[in-house]
Amino acid sequence: MAYQQAAEAIRAATRAVGFTGAGISVESGIPPFRGEGGLWNRYDPALLQLDHFLASPDSSWKVIREIFYDFFGAAVPNAAHRGLAELERLGLLQGVITQNIDNLHQDAGSRTVHEFHGTAGRMICLACREKRPSGEVDLQRLPPTCPLCGGLLKPDFIFFGEGIPEEVSKASFHETELADLFILVGTTGEVMPACLIPSLAKQNGATIIEINVETSNYGRQGVTDIFLQDKATTAMNKLFEALELPPP
Ligand code: ZN
Repeated sequence: MAYQQAAEAIRAATRAVGFTGAGISVESGIPPFRGEGGLWNRYDPALLQLDHFLASPDSSWKVIREIFYDFFGAAVPNAAHRGLAELERLGLLQGVITQNIDNLHQDAGSRTVHEFHGTAGRMICLACREKRPSGEVDLQRLPPTCPLCGGLLKPDFIFFGEGIPEEVSKASFHETELADLFILVGTTGEVMPACLIPSLAKQNGATIIEINVETSNYGRQGVTDIFLQDKATTAMNKLFEALELPPP
């Protein structure tokens, strides 16, 4: 029933936006940071503090390489990522605002992706601010340095102690103002300020579809209108069935 309702809401929307968090990438083998089995049980989050990184780039980079390049680098998108990309291709979705830094939306074919927390797929030189694809950077010798000026390279996602980049923040909040439908996938509303986006969309009159395994803050706070309680890939497959589309 909820899936039929969700399908109707998607068909009726004029401007739908996806909003995703760690839960959509779990089935691609990327563990979440928080909670049981999360990365912060295995690694010290202090390594991703900006001041720690600046003071001791060698030790931070060793862990960064292991988590975000050796490990994330091997992950591939799943049916939930592909589903959002397909909805966009069909003109049923404007794009995705994601808190993830794993590039899996783009790998799945999504074109409009607002990376609220940045991306591991790019690096920025802290001296000259030049950005380059991470694939072009040699990570054999750490820390990696800028080929133009020799400055220290940092992954272009936000560390603890850094603000949301202005450009993506602006674009995301603009999208939120315009949207009449939000599809939340795998995000439980605990990370500030990203967690404010669905509530803001709701205040602006958008209908909120939520895909999560467990009831989240959005459900508890009455933000969610249609709750699809399933794993991300299961939910996306059922949603496509309700939309009478081939499985993503
Ligand atoms: Zn540089």
